Amino acid sequence: MQHKKIAFIGAGNMAFAIISGLVKSGYPASEIIACNKSNQVRRQELATMGINVELSNRQAVEQADVVILAVKPQMMAEVCAEFADVDFSSKWVLSVAAGISVGRLEQLLPSANNIVRSMPNTPSLIGEGLSGLFAKKSVDPTACQFAETLLSAVGQCYWVETEAQLNQIIAITGSSPAYFFRFMEAMQQSAVQMGFSENDARFLVQSVAVGAAKMVVANPNLSLATLRENVTSKGGTTAQALAVFEQHQLADTVNQAMNAAIKRAEEME
Ligand code: NAP
Repeated sequence: MQHKKIAFIGAGNMAFAIISGLVKSGYPASEIIACNKSNQVRRQELATMGINVELSNRQAVEQADVVILAVKPQMMAEVCAEFADVDFSSKWVLSVAAGISVGRLEQLLPSANNIVRSMPNTPSLIGEGLSGLFAKKSVDPTACQFAETLLSAVGQCYWVETEAQLNQIIAITGSSPAYFFRFMEAMQQSAVQMGFSENDARFLVQSVAVGAAKMVVANPNLSLATLRENVTSKGGTTAQALAVFEQHQLADTVNQAMNAAIKRAEEME
């Protein structure tokens, strides 16, 4: 990847995860600027890594070829107002903010032609993320490639054709770590009711979650249904348990939950 000067506006959890991933993958820290106003500990941490730490969003943006918008969505308008009159025509913009559409970003930064919107998920914070990416057809393909390389520092990337699909990505990969946590939490509660300690129950549940996920990844040619059938003997324990899920219409419940997430994402935009 050609090294460009990258400015991170906001250096919270997500920005820090991307910066750490980039530096780990060999991107020169000297080419990264991070703007953080109030968190002195974070500023120190970044400076130790060799990152240029700025207090002024505007100065950070002026020096950069690529601007990463990584503040909370509710701060975006206020933050962009600080540099709305900077000429963005030769800069690339990548937003990681949930719920801020490309149209809204174009209003906030009128001279920006190359805006990529992304929806990373929480596992990105440990380098195991999935980021949905969207850009209008008019965006420079090199800017898209660069955005993908940046987010690859914290996991996998997946491009969507339409911006509406980003809301579906939120339901599939953004909100969904919590679905798995909820399922694991229910299993843990059940194990505790059987008499296992909280710690032991968690150890058992997390071990099986990791094992099951790794089996899925290790067997790309087997469908999820086949993997399930392979551990379900007729009349056995697993069949009994799965029958209860079916009685309670698990698939329909999951479908309703995911559609509720999409509806909420649409309302928030
Ligand atoms: P965060 O840890 O709260 O970080 C927000 C950052 O914005 C902080 O560094 C904060 O600095 C900074 N900030 C606030 N006001 C600012 C200003 N006026 N100028 C410059 N910086 C300012 O939040 P986060 O989890 O990293 O989320 C950042 C973005 O990533 C959000 O838009 C969110 O939607 C998106 N995202 C996050 C996740 C996730 O799993 N965390 C997943 C998907 C998308 P101070 O600390 O100095 O206040």
